[in-house]
Formats: sequence, structure tokens, C-alpha cells
Amino acid sequence: MVKASKEEIEAIKEFFIKNYKNAKTELKYKNLYELLVSVMLSAQCTDKRVNMITPSFFKKYPNIDSLAKADLDEVRELIKTCSFFNNKAKNLINMAKSVKEKYNGEIPLDEKELVKLPGVGRKTAHVVMIEYLGANLMAVDTHVFRVAHRLGLSDAKTPEKTEEDLKKAFKDHLDIIHQGMVLFGRYICTAKNPKCNECELQKYCKSKESFKAGS
Ligand code: SF4
Repeated sequence: MVKASKEEIEAIKEFFIKNYKNAKTELKYKNLYELLVSVMLSAQCTDKRVNMITPSFFKKYPNIDSLAKADLDEVRELIKTCSFFNNKAKNLINMAKSVKEKYNGEIPLDEKELVKLPGVGRKTAHVVMIEYLGANLMAVDTHVFRVAHRLGLSDAKTPEKTEEDLKKAFKDHLDIIHQGMVLFGRYICTAKNPKCNECELQKYCKSKESFKAGS
């Protein structure tokens, strides 16, 4: 794969900072609890689907306390249109129990502590911290992975290695760049038929030749 040059990386970075500086997640949430639950539900599931599920979920379980006491079958029923709902239901209840027992009911805003919660991996923790704190962290989901590879920012095979490459390439403003890459991947540089004709990064793209037919 052709790798992006230093100059190209700088130009790509500027593009994301300029165009996505106020970008936020499309998940609908009102507080840290709702954000964490939404991000946990969003693994392998679209934000749109999660936003359809969460209003009734938060009505029934408005906080850590109520979720910690929840009945597994009832949680399953509420989130059954989401992929991996069985595991997610278990993890959500166990996450709430753990926050109650080990953190006095307060969700810890610290990467090392967040990943100790059931069902919270590195990506979920990073997404929460990026969104809630504007932390200088990168999280690699399917959109970020695709965009990073098409723009020659990484040729890594795994999200973890891709995250390292992106951190090394951009160094700062990672929160904005993350939000930007997600939205850019969701609406412009889509998996199928990317909108190459509208893409402002076309001149830096390493794979646009392959997408000409669909653009
Ligand atoms: S030119 Fe097309 S494939 Fe390349 S980054 Fe832009 S939208 Fe994605």
C-alpha cells in the first residue's frame, strides 16, 4: 500500500480539524450513564438502531441503580433488535453492578478503570472519553479503519495497530479527527459506492482508482 507522506498527513489533519471541529457522536444521550450504555449497545450495531432502542430503555432504567437491579429477561426484551443482545444485556447489568459496588455508583472517567467494567473494551472506553471529555485518544471502528486505509494512513491488519498508526501520524486533536473520520466514513467514504466525486480528500486517496466505477 502507498503510504501518505508527511505533507499529506498534515493536509488530511487540517481537513478534519477544519470540517469536523464541532462534530459529536450521533448517539442520543443526556449524561455519562446514557452515553456509556449507548456506546456499549452500538458495538456491531448502527447508531440509528441504538437511538431507536434507548428512549424506552432509559425510561425503564434511568440510572446505574435501576440498571443494577434489572431483570435480565426484561433488558433482553428491550434491546432485542440490537445485534448480540444476549451478551449486551448481561454486560449492561454487570457493568451497572460493578459501578455500584466498586465505584460508589459513579462511572469512572479514566481509561484504566473504564476497561475494568464488564463489556467495556478499549474502543468503548476511548469513544466515551473522546465524546464526554474531548480526550486526545483515538478509537478505531469500521469507518475509521476503512478511511485510514484508503487514505494511506495505515496498512495495519487490526484496529489496535491502526489506532497506533493514527496516533503516531496525527499526535494531537485526535478527538476531533476521530469524530471526523467516523462521519466522513459514514456519509462520504462509505464502504460501498463511496462518494469520491464529492470527496475533498480525493487527491490524497490511495484507493480511489478502485472506486471509480461506483463514484
Ligand atoms: S476518494 Fe473516495 S475512496 Fe478515496 S477517500 Fe475520498 S471518498 Fe474515500
